[in-house]
Amino acid sequence: MAEIDRMLEANAEWAERFPGSKPVAPARKVAVVACMDSRMPLFPLLGLEVGDAHVIRNAGGVVTEDTVRSLTISQHLLGTREIVLVHHTDCGLQKSNDVDFADLVERETGRRPPWSARTFTDVDADVRESMRLLRDCPYLVSREVRGTVYDVDTGRLREVT
Ligand code: ZN
Repeated sequence: MAEIDRMLEANAEWAERFPGSKPVAPARKVAVVACMDSRMPLFPLLGLEVGDAHVIRNAGGVVTEDTVRSLTISQHLLGTREIVLVHHTDCGLQKSNDVDFADLVERETGRRPPWSARTFTDVDADVRESMRLLRDCPYLVSREVRGTVYDVDTGRLREVT
């Protein structure tokens, strides 16, 4: 558990330059749904500042039940109206498939997960599927959603239409 010590030290420095309190509702009224990939620093790559946006992350940046829960809270309680999806090149979810992954977990733990890993091969198709799921979502007040793919080798974001 050495990483937590480094993080606590880093946080002490952060607190020194803390930008001050912000309102809980995101200033730019936007929620970002993104992959958890360690190479995507979402705030700088999207030009966001503290207090600007909600960021909902999971493996693949896919639309799960919990993504919908978070977006519904984001819109109804905290006033966001736009959704931006950020998937990316070289995603860990492209390195396996749902059956092999479930086999792997079962082999190593004795338990087969009841959920799907949601692996994919075509990143653009995966973004389109996420956009479709959100446009069909009955709980949102705004279904204004746009999808992008981030290139982890160039830092460039490309919109998927
Ligand atoms: Zn990823």
